[in-house]
Amino acid sequence: VTITNHMPTAELQALDAAHHMHPFSANTELGREGVRVITRAKGVWLTDSEGEEILDGMAGLWCVNIGYGREELAEVAARQMRELPYYNTFFKTTHVPVIALAQKLAELAPGDLNHVFFSSGGSDANDTNIRLVRTYWQNKGQPDRNVIISRKNAYHGSSVGSSSLGGMAGMHAQGGIIPNIHHINQPNWWAEGGDMTPAEFGLARARELEEAILELGQDRVAAFIAEPVQGAGGVIVAPDTYWPEIQRICDKFGILLIADEVICGFGRTGNWFGSQTLGIRPHIMTVAKGMSSGYVPIGASIICDEVAEVIGMEEFNHGYTYSGHPVAAAVALENLRILEEEKIIDHVRDVAAPYLKQKWESLLVHPLVGEAKIVGMMGSIALTPDKGTRAKFAAEAGTVGYICRERCFKNNVIMRHVGDRMIISPPLVITPAEIDEMFVRIHKSLDEAH
Ligand code: PLP
Repeated sequence: VTITNHMPTAELQALDAAHHMHPFSANTELGREGVRVITRAKGVWLTDSEGEEILDGMAGLWCVNIGYGREELAEVAARQMRELPYYNTFFKTTHVPVIALAQKLAELAPGDLNHVFFSSGGSDANDTNIRLVRTYWQNKGQPDRNVIISRKNAYHGSSVGSSSLGGMAGMHAQGGIIPNIHHINQPNWWAEGGDMTPAEFGLARARELEEAILELGQDRVAAFIAEPVQGAGGVIVAPDTYWPEIQRICDKFGILLIADEVICGFGRTGNWFGSQTLGIRPHIMTVAKGMSSGYVPIGASIICDEVAEVIGMEEFNHGYTYSGHPVAAAVALENLRILEEEKIIDHVRDVAAPYLKQKWESLLVHPLVGEAKIVGMMGSIALTPDKGTRAKFAAEAGTVGYICRERCFKNNVIMRHVGDRMIISPPLVITPAEIDEMFVRIHKSLDEAH
């Protein structure tokens, strides 16, 4: 069979169900229901095989920062494929796209984060980080310093290593976790703050890091990893007191701080990196997604001078076939050029984010919406039957969120639900008129779910 865009949707769905296993899905049920076939995209709009136009409120998976359909990236990819489609940098070789991208990332990254180790995405970049921080302490003569502290409900990827760093119980239940990872609680005031004020709660949750270090023994803790704003866990924005206290504790005990910027990086929070928005000084940043706007798979660890120097003392036994892939590097570089020259982060800061915030917070008048949180272009609302008590629904957790998400899907706006939180993360180039259209659809969906 020749499978094309022109086949009837039902046939494409049947073939998909027969042979394609979808990530994070119950595939048997998915096959029965049938999935939507996305055929084209431009700007913030997707088109499906039935010709429906769908507003993508999630930028794919939080990645299509410059929007869909930029010809420049296609041209750069084609040119690079003709010139040098592949080469590696393992054995005393390098190439121009990887040099140029590493230089650009070092220039954009804050502080002395000047050294780049490439991967194919965020999961394997976090695997790199596990080996990096353990090797760092080994090379410094402290091999017992190998525990990495992370947070419950964090998402750091799907490989066994990165999902161990992550705090997703459902993933740990399927395959277990690697040793020497310790999870502390997340700063989710809405769900877990009890009677504390957000400020008190932020401090209490940050101090769990200090308690964990003391309990484990400070000569055993290698690093703390966190997303500046927890993304896949439900866009959990920590209270203002949280990050300064975390930074103080990392400094006090001399542990490495890893900021997982896979979602927050490249403009999503209104600066190049979420660490700048939240006032964090990481030793290592994980990046992926927005680095290429999702057009090609690429990720990286961006590493500070001192860590790079200590790692460089010995052979670092690590690398991927596609580390610094020339086509991916060239496309990522072109994406960064567009972000910079078209001042897309200024557009976020001056236009899109303030407008989105105003619209987002106006959702609070809806009877279902208890909390509305937003940083730059990533936001969440908590659905609740009672705003005053921050109550949870009697239905099984996530049911109302799921219904809401399904209504959005039918009304041709992509939002995601995490339990009973609804989240958005649109392309950064979205215009006020498109935001208005998005909210017409979101309001309709919330009303139908209520
Ligand atoms: N880290 C964070 C914060 C993420 O959100 C993700 C993906 O959603 C990852 C890591 C994993 O990245 P990838 O899916 O490219 O492996």
